[in-house]
Amino acid sequence: MSVSGIAFDDTFMLGARLLRSGRCIEAIEAFRTVYSRALADNEIGLMAACLNEMAWCCYRLGEVEQGLEYAMGAKWHWGRAGNTAEKSRALAIEAILFLDIGFSDEAYSAADQAVKLALTTEFESVHAFTLNAKGIVLAVCHEAQLGLQLLERALGIAARQQNHAAQAYYLLNIGFCHGKLAEEALSLLEPERADAENRIATELSALAVDLAESVGDDWTLRTALSNSAELLSKQGRHDLAIELMDRLAELPELPGIGLRIHYLYTLSDVLLRSGRCDDARVAAAESLALAEGSGIVEHQTSAAAKLVEILEAQGDTRAAFAMHKRFHGLYVRQAGETARRRARVEEIRSETDRLRDEASMLAEQVMCDPLTGIANRRSFDQILNRLAGSPIAIGMLDIDLFKSVNDRFSHIVGDAVLQRIARIMVDQIGPHGHAARLGGEEFALIFPDIAEATAAALCEGVRVAVANADWSHIAEGLAVTVSVGLATGRGDVPSGLLLQMADRRLYMAKTTGRDRIISRDTPILVHDNAEPRKQSIA
Ligand code: GH3
Ligand code: MG
Ligand code: MG
Repeated sequence: MSVSGIAFDDTFMLGARLLRSGRCIEAIEAFRTVYSRALADNEIGLMAACLNEMAWCCYRLGEVEQGLEYAMGAKWHWGRAGNTAEKSRALAIEAILFLDIGFSDEAYSAADQAVKLALTTEFESVHAFTLNAKGIVLAVCHEAQLGLQLLERALGIAARQQNHAAQAYYLLNIGFCHGKLAEEALSLLEPERADAENRIATELSALAVDLAESVGDDWTLRTALSNSAELLSKQGRHDLAIELMDRLAELPELPGIGLRIHYLYTLSDVLLRSGRCDDARVAAAESLALAEGSGIVEHQTSAAAKLVEILEAQGDTRAAFAMHKRFHGLYVRQAGETARRRARVEEIRSETDRLRDEASMLAEQVMCDPLTGIANRRSFDQILNRLAGSPIAIGMLDIDLFKSVNDRFSHIVGDAVLQRIARIMVDQIGPHGHAARLGGEEFALIFPDIAEATAAALCEGVRVAVANADWSHIAEGLAVTVSVGLATGRGDVPSGLLLQMADRRLYMAKTTGRDRIISRDTPILVHDNAEPRKQSIA
């Protein structure tokens, strides 16, 4: 958690403790409370941290779609906050969740991105977490050998950091990986290698059991016990397997119907292998009933498949046939479920995209003047900051006698004049500079790296275009002129000083007759169309 750089409050820490011990429903409640508070205070980092933890809770509760929504939200917030380490953690969680619903392509891409991002940071615990995610994805995608290398790197880091909880979790996954290698060896008709891999898997799972127990991580403990029992049962060590299942039954129940369904399923498998078909049937039937109640098709499909196996072993062919029909129906439904999930994931994605668009729109609004659409004062300041130390010219532009435009015509006409002038400025200066509205009827022009004469000519272009524009489209009898004060610096004058100079020259332009540009303290640019009431400076 240190990688987020956030000071967490007691409720968050309570959530973290609950999550660690496997009490995910209570944990998620705690994180939701903190999240609401963070949302109200607009604390993006804290919101994202809660979303990460909530996503992880959902994974452990088997609420995958909800978890994906949280993980994607977290990823997006961390990206916005510029926290690469936490963003890669969110991506790793996303990968594991994708894997859980069988979207292995998405899982791989998220995990791969997570590792790449994590390795650009200095946080080894995040390296480990993302390596673990990619390792698991590879193991599930029939690349167990590659996965194993990454998982072992993750374990090495956790061991060095003496993070026993992480070690337990990574060990569990390494055990799983060796189990996959054993399956692979069996399918290649290499029983001896399969046996060896199974033995390693069993030993590592046993280690994971001990470590998880010592740190009080009940979720990892349960999963490791269940994996160990399955492995032992496959090796024909039935008594030991059943012993582990008994130990599992004695553990306090954890929330999440998925865990209970999985327990019963594993139990039925272990019992079937040990020849206790009747007991296996009871467990599998209960697993199926619970799975039906949960509405999760995958659980129903695997429970039905297990029941077919058990019924066949019992010689109850009629019941086995009926169950097989049911299994087939579920199998077909599962395909539809995948399509539905894909649609849901797309929905979640577009929701995050919408959030992103909204945020960039807000960011734009923050930088834009709403009336004229050009840069506002804030943006003007930012441009100046960015250009600090390099040569620039600043023109301050003010509409002449604008008050009388409002008074003689209307405020609406005045607004239209402001909009038109902004457009003229942008058109006239083209790519040579930036135009901003500083407020009221005052505008500014910034020209980076420009000769004074060029800047003066561009300002003059604006002045002439304004004076010569056909204003009668806006209001009959309307005429508009502007005055400009220009100051140029070679990077050695602070922008504050340049602004003062430009302002002073604007004032000079006003007091010497308006509709003109003054770019030196002794004015140089004069035009010959001054009205009688305006005083030209020669
Ligand atoms: P000068 O040539 O000396 O600049 O005269 P002026 O009348 O332009 O100067 P002054 O600063 O007295 O008046 C500025 C006017 O700009 C006053 C205010 O009503 C008007 N104004 C400021 N913001 C807006 C706006 O958003 N819309 C409209 N229509 N008018 C605005
Ligand atoms: Mg004015
Ligand atoms: Mg003014």
